[in-house]
Amino acid sequence: MSRRQRLGGLLDAIGVVDGVKRARMAFGVSPFPVLTYHRIAPKDGSDPFDPDVIDATPQVFDEHVRMLARNFTLVGTREIRAHFMGTRSLPANAAMITFDDGYKSCLEVALPILRRYGARAVFFVSTGHVTERRLFWWDRTSYIVRQSKAAEIRLEYPEPIHIVRRPYDLQKVTTRLLRIIKDTYGLDVERFLTELAQAAGVPWSNEVDARLADDLLLTWDEVRALRDAGMDIESHTRWHRVLDTLTPAELEEELVGSREDLEAQLSDPVRAIAYPVGRGGDHRVAMAVARAGYDLGFSNATGINDFRSAMAPLSVRRAAVDAWVSDAVLRASMVVPNLTEVSPPRKTR
Ligand SMILES: [Zn+2]
Repeated sequence: MSRRQRLGGLLDAIGVVDGVKRARMAFGVSPFPVLTYHRIAPKDGSDPFDPDVIDATPQVFDEHVRMLARNFTLVGTREIRAHFMGTRSLPANAAMITFDDGYKSCLEVALPILRRYGARAVFFVSTGHVTERRLFWWDRTSYIVRQSKAAEIRLEYPEPIHIVRRPYDLQKVTTRLLRIIKDTYGLDVERFLTELAQAAGVPWSNEVDARLADDLLLTWDEVRALRDAGMDIESHTRWHRVLDTLTPAELEEELVGSREDLEAQLSDPVRAIAYPVGRGGDHRVAMAVARAGYDLGFSNATGINDFRSAMAPLSVRRAAVDAWVSDAVLRASMVVPNLTEVSPPRKTR
C-alpha cells in the first residue's frame, strides 16, 4: 500500500476529509478538481486493446460517481466558461468529470451510472475516429503487439528500431512504440502503423480496423444520445494527433476540422477542447487553439485548479484517475492537492 493510499484510508476512516474540505472553504480556498477518465471496463486483459486507458472498472466508477455526486456540485463547460467570463462564479464545491477519446463504454457503462446519481460529465471526442471507424493509435499498436507471434520487430521508419517482443512484457513494448508517435515531429502515423503491422506479421486492413472500431468506439448516434442525456460533447481533435508534433497545416486540420465535425453532427457550437495526451502547452499550439475558435482548453497537467488564482482558460488542469484509486483515496485527493498525482505521465492518451 502506498503512502498515498494509507493517508487516504486514514483520512477517510477518521472523517478528516470532509473536515479538510470545510476548512479549506472556510479559509476561502476553493479547489476545482477536474477528473479524467477514458474507458470503463473490466481490467482483466480480456481484449487486445491498450489496458492503460481503462481507468476504472464499472464497480469502481460507480463508487467514484456516488462519492462525487454526494460531495460536489458537478458542472459542465458552460459553468466554467461563465466563471472565466466573470458572469457567474462556480459553486464553492464545484468539480467536473471528463471523458476523453470516445469509447463506447461512455454510453454503455458510464452513462447509466452517471444517471443513477444524477451526475453529469463532459465527453471529449476525436471526430475522425467516430466518422471513419478507425481504432485509436494506442489501441491499434496494442492490438498489433498482442496479436503478433514474432519474437522480434524491426522497423526502418521513422528510424531503425529493433524490439524484442517478450510475451511477458508486451505493455513495455507497446509503451515504447507509443512514445515514438507521441514525440516524433511530422510523423506519418499511418505509415508507421502500417509498417509496424507488416514487421509484426499481423494482417491489417481497413475492414479489420472498422470491425474492431465498431466494437470499441461510439457512433455519431451514440454521441448524440449522450448529448440528449444532458452531457456536454466537446472536441478531442480529429485524429488525436499530439498537437506539438504537427506541422501548421496538420494542426489547423485537427483543431478546426474537429470543431466543424462536431458542429455539423450536433448543431451546437463547440468551444472547448481536451488536448491529446494532455499536451497543448507550447505557445505555437496555444495560438492555434485560440485561432481555431476555442475558449476552453483542458490539459493533463496534474492538479487541482484553485480558481481564486489566475487559472488560464486554455490550460485547465485535470487529475488522471487510475484503476487502483479507491473511493477513499479519490475523496482525499480532491481536497488535499499533493495527493493528486495519481497517474504516471507514460499513461497519458
Ligand atoms: Zn485522448
